Amino acid sequence: MAEFCLECFHQLNGTHYTKADVIQDFDLCENCGEYKKCVVNLRGHDPMNVLIRFCINLISSTDWRK
Ligand SMILES: [Zn+2]
Repeated sequence: MAEFCLECFHQLNGTHYTKADVIQDFDLCENCGEYKKCVVNLRGHDPMNVLIRFCINLISSTDWRK
């Protein structure tokens, strides 16, 4: 499986995951060629994290200041 660092992962997939959304491990990024933390899996598959992310999205989509 190809491993990419979070920056390259975003570039390639057009995603905007935070470090909390992904499981990272030190590996060689196959895009930038640097040995750094790479995305090995997404936490989104965990039902609890899906629920948490849903809540975070709900909160962040509400502008409390208005
Ligand atoms: Zn990279």
